[in-house]
Amino acid sequence: MQDFEFTVYRVGVHARDLLDPERVELEKAGARQVVIEKPENDEAFIEIAGDADGLIVVDSPVTRRVIEGLGRLKVVLRTGVGVDVIDVEAATERGVAVVSVPDLWIREVANHALALLLACNRRLLLLDRYVRSERWLPVIPPPVGSLHGETLGMIGFGRIGRMMARRGAALDMELIAYDPFLPTAAFGEFGVEPVSLQELLHRSDYVSIHSPLTEQTRHLIDEAALKQMKATAYLINTSRGPVVDEAALATALREGWIAGAGLDVLEQEPPDPANPLLELDNVILTPHSSYYSDAAIRELPIRCGQEVARVLTGRRPLNLVNHEVLAVLPLTED
Ligand code: NAD
Repeated sequence: MQDFEFTVYRVGVHARDLLDPERVELEKAGARQVVIEKPENDEAFIEIAGDADGLIVVDSPVTRRVIEGLGRLKVVLRTGVGVDVIDVEAATERGVAVVSVPDLWIREVANHALALLLACNRRLLLLDRYVRSERWLPVIPPPVGSLHGETLGMIGFGRIGRMMARRGAALDMELIAYDPFLPTAAFGEFGVEPVSLQELLHRSDYVSIHSPLTEQTRHLIDEAALKQMKATAYLINTSRGPVVDEAALATALREGWIAGAGLDVLEQEPPDPANPLLELDNVILTPHSSYYSDAAIRELPIRCGQEVARVLTGRRPLNLVNHEVLAVLPLTED
């Protein structure tokens, strides 16, 4: 039997096809994978995972109390882009590396946003229903934009926003974006014009949201924003549900302030059956599935295992969240 130098607790996911590739990568670095249920509270977490060198979590809170209670802890990995479940400040103070996996599905999310955009533009769901109810009418109910020459506005111009811009460029669309944290030069190389939020809402035929959820972006698209959009415009959201004020959006869709919406994310997931959006036929809904592809899902556990293994063996992970930790936890570049 292999002797293990490290112990890594994998918290809360038990699908073998996710666990095995991760275990293989950990074992290559001399780390034992221990799979546990999501602990009920901090004390239970500390008791169960007392000898942890590493933690891999999906949504279990890794609080200051947990970080301070796990004396050997060197790395916490969150299996997605957001690390809001981890007390990053406490981790940095304690010399614990916080790692995320933000980049595996950026093309998938942009593809999904494009799929929603095209489905809105071509009224795909409606036409499908027509054909199945024996209405063979080779026309599309308006508005039906040409796409080429129309304007795609991206809110947030990071990894996914840029992928979306490339897709819009392939359709010969005019590209504009609002991202207050980027220098002007970051837009030009993608052929994108940086604009204010107000200008983006006024000019876009399709508004696609690619910002994170922060205190600033919560309900960024509210009644006032929706009223600034064109009556023929579509809103596409693959970022986080609360960026859009759903009650205002339902009113906008019902009263024709905008033409329609394609939403992969909602304020409450899964939605309450009474959510008015479920009743409207000018909205297309998908269940937070933008990230999904066979390849991305296959790659995820391998990446998680490799990232944790890197830190345990003194190497810098591909996506370190708290760079300040390097002052107390020296990790070498590959
Ligand atoms: P990223 O960090 O690379 O880019 C986000 C961009 O948003 C940054 O450039 C940032 O400057 C900008 N931004 C921040 N605050 C803003 C604001 N107030 N207004 C406008 N722009 C602002 O992130 P990413 O990888 O492109 O992912 C974007 C978002 O997509 C994630 O935060 C996540 O919420 C979402 N996401 C969804 C899925 C899904 O399955 N639906 C999967 C992955 C990511």
